[in-house]
Formats: sequence, C-alpha cells, structure tokens
Amino acid sequence: MFGQPTRRDALRRAALLPAAPGLVLGGADPAAAQAPDGPKGGAGFRAGAATSNITPPLGGDIVGGFRPFPSDHVHDELHARCLVLDDGTARVALVVCDLLGAHRAVFDEARRLVTAETGLPGSHLFASCTHTHSATSALGKDRLAAKPGDLDEYQRFVARRVADGVRRAVKNLGPARVGWAVGSEPREVFNRRWFMKPGTVPVNPFGEATDQVKMNPPRGSPDLVKPAGPTDPEVSVLAVRRPDGRPVAVYASYSLHYVGGVRGADISADYFALFCDRLQQLLGADRQDPPFVAMLANGTSGNINNIDFTKKGERSEPYQKMREVADRVAEAAHKAYRTIAWKDAAPLAAKLDELEVGVRHPTPDQLARAKVVLAEKPKPDAPASLERIYAERTLRLNDWPDKIPLPLQAVRVGDVAIGGVPCEVFVETGLAFKAKSPFKPSWVVSLNNGYYGYLPTPEHHDLGGYETWLGTNRLEKQASEKILARLLEMVAGLKT
Ligand SMILES: [Zn+2]
Repeated sequence: MFGQPTRRDALRRAALLPAAPGLVLGGADPAAAQAPDGPKGGAGFRAGAATSNITPPLGGDIVGGFRPFPSDHVHDELHARCLVLDDGTARVALVVCDLLGAHRAVFDEARRLVTAETGLPGSHLFASCTHTHSATSALGKDRLAAKPGDLDEYQRFVARRVADGVRRAVKNLGPARVGWAVGSEPREVFNRRWFMKPGTVPVNPFGEATDQVKMNPPRGSPDLVKPAGPTDPEVSVLAVRRPDGRPVAVYASYSLHYVGGVRGADISADYFALFCDRLQQLLGADRQDPPFVAMLANGTSGNINNIDFTKKGERSEPYQKMREVADRVAEAAHKAYRTIAWKDAAPLAAKLDELEVGVRHPTPDQLARAKVVLAEKPKPDAPASLERIYAERTLRLNDWPDKIPLPLQAVRVGDVAIGGVPCEVFVETGLAFKAKSPFKPSWVVSLNNGYYGYLPTPEHHDLGGYETWLGTNRLEKQASEKILARLLEMVAGLKT
C-alpha cells in the first residue's frame, strides 16, 4: 500500500506543476497526465464550433474614425465566430463578432432567436465585438440613441447570423476535453494616454484647458513625460479539443484596441482575424471537417493601443503591422495552449444581470456652448470640426434618461471566469478583476452585449483626455467601480 511511488504518481505530480513561470494552469487533474488524450476523454463534456460570415455589402460606411466613409473593397471577410460548450447539464455559447461594436438591441435580438431555436437560455449566450475599425456599423443609424429604433437591415442580418452560428455549433457538438492557460505578449501593448509637459496638452473640443493627459500624443515628442497607466500583456486562452487531440476551438482574449493599417476604404476584421488564421496554422488544424474555430475577444483595451509613443513612427505596407502583431499574439496563445492540463469535465454556469448606472449630462455651460457652436454655419465641403462633432454629441446626451440599465454578464467554464461589459473598458478595471476574482484565471471582455462608450476609472476622469470627453464617455464617473463590484459579486455567485 505504501510502496515505491508509481509512474502514475509521478505523472500526477507533474501535472500539478506549472510548465513555465508566468503561466497559470488548471488545478489537479489525474487525466491531464495522459498525453496524448487517452481513450477515457470526453466523458460527458461536449463542444461544437461554427463561423458565420457577417460581411456587409460594399458601399456602407466604415465607422472606426470620427468621419465615416463608404467601403469599396473587402480585404478579408467579417465573421461571427461561435463556440458552444455542454457539460452534460448546462450549455454556454461564446460568440465573437468582427464589428466595431453593436447596439444592445442586436444582441437582444440574437438572444431571442437563439433561445427560440436552440433552447439555450438567454443568460448563457455571451457575445461580444472585436472592435475592428474597418467594419460598417451595427450600432444603428443613431449610434448615440439611448433607445434603439427598429433594427436596420444590417443589424437584423448580424443578429440572424449570430443565431445561425450558434445553431450550427450545436449541430457540431461532439465529445471534447477542455482546458485553459494564460500566455504573455508584452511587446504589442502600449498605454496610449500620456502626461505631457505643462502647457502642451491641447484645449479640448469643449473649449476647456482642463485635460492633464493626451490620447495618442505625437510620437517621439520631447514634450512626453510618462504614460498615464499600465498595460496588460496577458493572452488568455480557453480551448477545447476532441478526445483524439484534434483542436475544436480556442477562445482567446488580449487587451489591445486594434492595430489598423488597412488599405483605403477596405473592410477588414483587423489583426483579430489574422490571429485566428495563424493560430489555426500553428495548431495544425487546417482543413478540418467541421472546421477548427479560433476566436480573439477584446480584453480591456480602452486606453491601450499598438503604438510605441517613445519612438518616431516608421512606414509599414498595408496589413504588414497587423500581421506582425497577429503572429506574435498567436504564438503566445499557442505556447500557452501547449501547457494546458486537459480535463474531461468542467462545470459551466452563466449569469446575465442589469446594473442601474447614472448617465452623464452636459453642464449648463457645455450646453450653451454647444448651441453656439452649432449655430455657426459649417464651411461647405470642409470636414466637420471636432468642436462641432462634440457639440452634436452634447445635445444628444442631454436627451438621455438620468439612469440606464447596463447589461453585465459572467460565465464560468471550470476554473475560468469571464466577465462581460458593454463598454470600452480601461485596462485598470481588467487588471483589478483578474486580481480580485475567486476564479483563476479570470478576465474581462469588452464590447459585450452592447455599446455604451468608454469606461474610464474615476482617476482617469480626473485626468481628462479623449476617453473622458462627454459623448466619448456617457456613464457617470463612478461607473467603472460599480461595474467591477457587481461583476465580482456575479462571479462569486458562480463559484457554488
Ligand atoms: Zn475604441
């Protein structure tokens, strides 16, 4: 009974040890020591994945910047990538859409269709947008509308295609093993808000000289002092594969706004799609039937982009930079994937809540000034000035109710917890969630279930800058703290 340790014991211990520093692995799992997956794999746990094309017709407006312009080419198709997990009792669907963002009404409609057609509870559909800046809009004609009008044709199409993708993923359900790991790629994330030398931060579009930081400052400028916050280099990975080892899907997340660098008026899914393509190649998962599905969700990148502001910029060919970033992040995900302790079972759970959050309204001064700015006749053929754009936004936000219900979501897959927030979440909130969540690993996905603007922390509100401007930001100063607290409560509830 107490003889020499067996080889099985040694393998069991090996399975408990992290493979490399900085990697977070799952807990003890004797089956994890069997490599490759033994015949006992897939006892009850199932997974299926599918991808829906959501590319709009040419001619629709590309919406990433301040001034939309019509698309005239498709560099690469836009997709809704869908993964369904089934633990034998509960089912969860994870979806990532190649869109800048989508109005909450699009997700509500997708949820209604998915529940009607598959029986999946609405709370268990976790869908988000990547934030590619080279897509047309699923935000609706009036992207600042508090309440949606009727869904437009493209919004209805996206909801329909998300539901189709989930239905097809259900059809593709088959025995699977599940695992998770966290990799790192620190070279591609930079905080984009900078403290600058006194007097060098421009006056904001409201005519106020109150900003202490500048978003996207001039590169290599002698006026730069230091970045106004951290970055999060982690590449979070949740993966499923068949008992014979064939990859089914990888749901990854990285906290990088987007990369950009497209050609002209191209539609493109940005580095998010190139990541998926490269990871599929690294995993040897090409030409499977049904196809392997990789997905890259946007983590907490409200204040993070891909620009090293300490250096002067160098010219890149269209799509070159995007591919370099995608390759590096995919390599980090692949490295993490190879450390996964595969499991035959993992409990699934999800929760969808609404949190009442205050809306920011213009001050009487801001309102009066906006009316003055808009009373001036714009120069014919000149692009609208930032002053004018923000004056319009100021008036629109004045019509919003004082409080709105904000959809928040939490999903559990075994030891993993993922929080969903319908905003461009600042990295500090994501880091705090990771540190405080009872699940390891945990991460937040932005642009989940809707779009309610940037979500700076109260400290960043005090610093000012683009992301805090009224219209770019719509929610009360304390919103990020309230959201974080509620998300942590929600994931704690998934523990039991
Ligand atoms: Zn953005």
